Amino acid sequence: MPALPIQADDGYNLPTLGDTSSSIMSREQEYQMGRTWLTMLRGAVPTLDDPQLKSFVESRVYALAETSQLTDRRLAFVLIDSPQLNAFAAPGGVVGVNGGLFLHAQTEAEFASVMAHELAHLSQRHFARGLEQQQRMQVPFMTAMLASIILAAAGGGDAGFAALASTQAAAIQEQRRFSRQNEQEADRIGLTNLVAAGYDPLAMPNMFERLAQLSRFDSNPPEFLLTHPVSQSRMADTRNRAAQLPSGGEDDTLEYQMMRARVQTYYESSPGLSAKRFRALLDEHDGDHKAARYGLALALTRSGQHDTAEQTLAPLLEQQPHDLTIGLAQVEIDNNRGRLAAALTRTRKLMHHYPGNFPLQFTEADLLLKQQDYAAAEKAINRLAASRTEDPDVWYLAAEIRGLAGNILGVHLARAEYFMLTGDTEQAGEQLELALKRTNGNFVMSSRIRERQQDLSRMRKQIESL
Ligand SMILES: [Zn+2]
Repeated sequence: MPALPIQADDGYNLPTLGDTSSSIMSREQEYQMGRTWLTMLRGAVPTLDDPQLKSFVESRVYALAETSQLTDRRLAFVLIDSPQLNAFAAPGGVVGVNGGLFLHAQTEAEFASVMAHELAHLSQRHFARGLEQQQRMQVPFMTAMLASIILAAAGGGDAGFAALASTQAAAIQEQRRFSRQNEQEADRIGLTNLVAAGYDPLAMPNMFERLAQLSRFDSNPPEFLLTHPVSQSRMADTRNRAAQLPSGGEDDTLEYQMMRARVQTYYESSPGLSAKRFRALLDEHDGDHKAARYGLALALTRSGQHDTAEQTLAPLLEQQPHDLTIGLAQVEIDNNRGRLAAALTRTRKLMHHYPGNFPLQFTEADLLLKQQDYAAAEKAINRLAASRTEDPDVWYLAAEIRGLAGNILGVHLARAEYFMLTGDTEQAGEQLELALKRTNGNFVMSSRIRERQQDLSRMRKQIESL
């Protein structure tokens, strides 16, 4: 926590200066704190690095933000590698999604209803208000929130996390009591946003009912339910509101179902089991179920059955030759069987249809690396890194490629960015020092590195204060 202005607990001793939530912390302070917090979160939980999933979440949340009450739309995303259902928003426009949300939200509109609710927490600045509450708490709000998300990612079963949680439990309890009113507000505003973004409003009460079912049958309910208890009145309230809003919006898309299939395949214990399940689903629909066909093709190539995978995907590719997700599935098959030139040609063709698309750019760099064309790979990853400066996975690949390309200064710079984004300030500092020794008197470069060192020391102070 940055030093906060002293505020009287009862509000009588000091005059109130306008909006209490902004008197305690400026929007810019909140932004900086949230972004630093995100680096700590990334360092503490496993994340999903699938460019297609990341791109999907980003595009859908940005689209929702367009019609939301959010004024500051600088968002940052983190996908947590956990099959537990959870989603959250944090100060500074940080939006987090567990892989488990894809497993539980059955349609894109249901997925969007959860994200709309989270965006409403951001637009209503519920966190700045929560921070006020923190003054009465023993454990800082942001630390408590970090603990609860780590706990959620671990599924609540891990002993180490459980120990951490018990020390934070009181703080989290306090946070929950405080947020009931915020939850109602987030439901109400989120629902309006859902409709404004073109989705069917009934998706929200449907999602709530799904959540209620989960808590009924699960003795160890997911974290999202602990922070978002679904009461009968909350469900009824949302259903009534939804019924009064215009229906007929978007309910589901093939794109969402294909992303779901990716997540399902990922969390299945083996690609073989995954193939079996998608095969059954496809047979049930006499071969006419696009997402099942897509999922089956992915599962097959990942279990080494590339020919069958290609045959399975072929009808989809024929029907929609320019579809990004279907095209990238064929790229994966070609890649898996070592047909790197074909994979690269297809990737570049798709790039004409989707200029500036992140998954395609990432795939291009990765394929060039596999082809051992390090100079071209470096150009490709540098282009991407210039536009996705806050993506640790991009910097990770950049470090690898630059190393093979013999650009040692570039390796240190990429590693420094990676470590800064994942909360490892010590290693980031070491990398910047090493980079500084490699500048060969390049003044522009060394002053850029010194600037980064200053950013790093600011970040260190912020981490200490959290
Ligand atoms: Zn909420």
